[in-house]
Amino acid sequence: MEIEVKENSENEMVFVLNNVDLAFANAIRRIGMMEVPKIAIEYINVIKNDSRMFNEVLAHRLGLVPITSDSEAIESLIPHEECDCEDYCSKCSVSFTLNKTWDDLPKDESKDKDIQRIVYSKDLHSTDSKIKPVFDTIPLVKLKEDQEIELEAIAMIGKGKYHAKWMPTTVCSYKQYPIITFDGEKELSNDVIDACPNNVLKLTKNKKPSAQHLKKNIENCTLCKSCVRASENDAIDVSYEDNKIIFKIETDGSMNPKEVLLRACDVLYDKADKISEQTEEEIKSS
Ligand code: SF4
Ligand SMILES: [Zn+2]
Repeated sequence: MEIEVKENSENEMVFVLNNVDLAFANAIRRIGMMEVPKIAIEYINVIKNDSRMFNEVLAHRLGLVPITSDSEAIESLIPHEECDCEDYCSKCSVSFTLNKTWDDLPKDESKDKDIQRIVYSKDLHSTDSKIKPVFDTIPLVKLKEDQEIELEAIAMIGKGKYHAKWMPTTVCSYKQYPIITFDGEKELSNDVIDACPNNVLKLTKNKKPSAQHLKKNIENCTLCKSCVRASENDAIDVSYEDNKIIFKIETDGSMNPKEVLLRACDVLYDKADKISEQTEEEIKSS
């Protein structure tokens, strides 16, 4: 199997896998969404909430705030199911405090009337400096004059298979590598070019399909076949390679996509190891 990284930024990674078994790629996709451990807020203890938002809704919003979950953060906590405490303790959780009154919050300069002010994710103060909200500007709740909010939030390690708030990926998907072929005998009409929503196709000055443009943009093809349907003379055909895929991972910022990929591979490796151990034991006992 060969891997070619096409894009790799803080929150997004695109790579091409060649000679890959689709079952393997699908296992990585599923583990990337469901089994890579991440930290998220699980409990809130509300001391005061004068806002118009119900505690349940506030708890849901807080749960979805991305919390730093890089390897340093994850390794500093133990998963709650491996801890001997009942609800939570300092070994398996991190505590955040939020304590704001309307007077503490800055005026919203974009509004003429200073009626409501916004509490942001940066107002959540963590007891552990390396585990905190990834973004400062996620609005949590609005307060009016004389209103106050005070609470404690408890974050712990979990997995996407238990709740979506523990899913590190916002996109974790693959598509098979497109193959686009033209019948050289037939003319390609402008309707075919215009039918493509992703600018994959272009005609040269002498009305031939531009191979250069196609090579540069073929990975944007979504295999929708709009071009094939628009071609009245069957001048174009779209198919895909069986063992070559384009994989995309996008995260919510709690960890970078490369970390998701590496941890997903580790989880898959452990699962395969467990299966081979079990099989060996079964063979021995039979
Ligand atoms: S299959 Fe869809 S995306 Fe691909 S070239 Fe044709 S119209 Fe464009
Ligand atoms: Zn504990």
